[in-house]
Amino acid sequence: MPPRKSLAIFALVFLINYLLMRFLFPGEQPVTVPYTEFRQQVAVGNVTALYSRGNTIEGRFRNPVTWPTPEEVKQAGGQPARPTSLDRRLMPPPKTSAYFNTELPAFHDRDLESFLITHKVEISAVPIQQGGLWTTLLYFGPALLIIGFYVWMYRRAAGGAGGGMGGVFGLGRSKAKRYDVGDPATRVTFNDVAGIDEAEAELVEIVDFLKAPDKYTRLGGTAPKGVLLIGSPGTGKTLLAKAVAGEAGVPFFSMSAAEFVEMIVGVGAARVRDLFKQARESAPAIIFIDEIDAIGRARGGVMMGGGHSEQEQTLQQILTEMDGFTGREGIIVLAATNTPDVLDRALLRPGRFDRRVVVNLPDKAGREAILRVHVRKVPLADDVQLEQLAQATPGFSGADLKNLANEAALLAARRSESAVTHKDFLDALEKIVLGPERPLLLTAQDRERIAYHEGGHAILGLVVPGADPVHRVSIVPRGQALGVTYQRPQTDRYNYPEAYLRARIIGMLGGRAAEEVVYGTKTTGAENDIEQATQLARNMVTRWGMSEAVGMVQLAPRENRFLGTGGGFGGDKPFSEQTAALVDAEVQGILHGCHEEAKRLLREHRGALDGLVSALLEDETLSEEEILKATGLPPAPQLEGAPIRLAG
Ligand code: ADP
Ligand code: ZN
Repeated sequence: MPPRKSLAIFALVFLINYLLMRFLFPGEQPVTVPYTEFRQQVAVGNVTALYSRGNTIEGRFRNPVTWPTPEEVKQAGGQPARPTSLDRRLMPPPKTSAYFNTELPAFHDRDLESFLITHKVEISAVPIQQGGLWTTLLYFGPALLIIGFYVWMYRRAAGGAGGGMGGVFGLGRSKAKRYDVGDPATRVTFNDVAGIDEAEAELVEIVDFLKAPDKYTRLGGTAPKGVLLIGSPGTGKTLLAKAVAGEAGVPFFSMSAAEFVEMIVGVGAARVRDLFKQARESAPAIIFIDEIDAIGRARGGVMMGGGHSEQEQTLQQILTEMDGFTGREGIIVLAATNTPDVLDRALLRPGRFDRRVVVNLPDKAGREAILRVHVRKVPLADDVQLEQLAQATPGFSGADLKNLANEAALLAARRSESAVTHKDFLDALEKIVLGPERPLLLTAQDRERIAYHEGGHAILGLVVPGADPVHRVSIVPRGQALGVTYQRPQTDRYNYPEAYLRARIIGMLGGRAAEEVVYGTKTTGAENDIEQATQLARNMVTRWGMSEAVGMVQLAPRENRFLGTGGGFGGDKPFSEQTAALVDAEVQGILHGCHEEAKRLLREHRGALDGLVSALLEDETLSEEEILKATGLPPAPQLEGAPIRLAG
């Protein structure tokens, strides 16, 4: 908060307090007496002390005096003025007080001094205090309380333990976390980063620069100032920034942009200033600003409440600080975001965050490498196959994989094993994906029905050409699911053939189809399957041009690459009602065809299905080999022209 503003608030608080106390304790107000009356009181020895400034005298009576006296009022021939009247010609209302003030007459009273000394009046050098300690406390106590409250609030806003330096009450301190590279226990290097090699390679140059800034600037080249790391949460952006600092051997200051912005305007900018100051003092250094989109959003957008100008100020301060570098200081700002599209253009201009490094989710090989990093200190049993785990975890980020390794280790510890087994990993994976096991009392019929449902998914995963291999089936209720069938893609796929998508839909509808084939009735258990299958079929029609009738036309908004959500067409669909009806018909057509195919295949393989169900009812969870053994079926045949891999 700017000092001028806080001062104004203090002044206001004091004023209100003062008026309030005057209203509550009017008795302590001095009475104004005429000069003649004052001399009279001195003469009778009723004045003990006085203080004079200019033409005004104030002082203390020995015994309280009432003025005007009843006689005076009577003489003036009337009523005293009402207390609120400001008319000075009227007689004021009578008032009693031990304190008084009076005005010296315009002509100089030469004898006053000796007159006062004769009557033993103390002439004070400081204003006469009205009332004792109590009055003072009454006057200032509440004010002190209010100030105390303010200080407390500021401290809280500033994040508590602020040591008092910098800004108003430590509010402007940056709260940045500082990591020093001297400590090998916390030091992070590229060795700890895996599976995101392209991003890593782009940052090597930054490390070089930090190690020897002069090498770059000697010939007049400009040093990098800001690098924007773009990627979903948990992909290792923070880790990369730390590793850059660790490799270069420079300190690392980290702060989340959300922490800059407080409800009090101006704090964010002060924190930015403090953060850059700290970094400059220990340059060369790395500043890492996480979630920069929290303040770097394009200005002028609709914003809620008063956060707007605060964000702008904070953003402006960052830009100012970055523009202030000459590039010789050896400070590099790394910032992370997963929504680069919303960032203010000003942030991306040359000399600011003009370099961008995209941090992608790891591919299969990457996931395996990341798992390897996180099991370094974990004793692994011989049966652990990290490659298989990597295969079973498409879409997992580095943080997810770290969590998987950790959960597996915890599970092994709880099971008092001496090393972490492959089963520990699979159980941990199940827990992460589906939530913990849910104790649920199921009747024998329900259990059997669930076993047939999951068995239907699994059988189709084995017999539909091109389906992803089934590697685990379970009828243990977890989270929302009553049972689950795991299929893992052979490789990460970036391009899906139509036949593969149909195989997926057939598999998804296999649960319901099995129930129908076996019991001839339907249950609600297939809600999730139907939803997913519908979504996939709709994408085939509206996105990927896989419907003859609709043709190759884009009818759905493109997904945001980084958010994984649709960008939206903004209300109006750019196609007609007829087209919408056609799309619906085509989607239904695909689903119907797949459903019929699922039922046909399950009838054909009824023996294998029954075998799988009895094994499931026995063991509840089956591994890949157990599934193949129970069904007597070979793994799913691969499609002609295997899926095209574009990357990794
Ligand atoms: P982000 O900043 O992108 O949200 P973090 O860097 O905070 O992600 O990742 C959280 C944790 O996940 C890291 O501390 C690290 O242990 C682990 N992790 C993430 N990505 C990787 C990776 N590529 N290699 C190794 N560990 C990773
Ligand atoms: Zn299902």
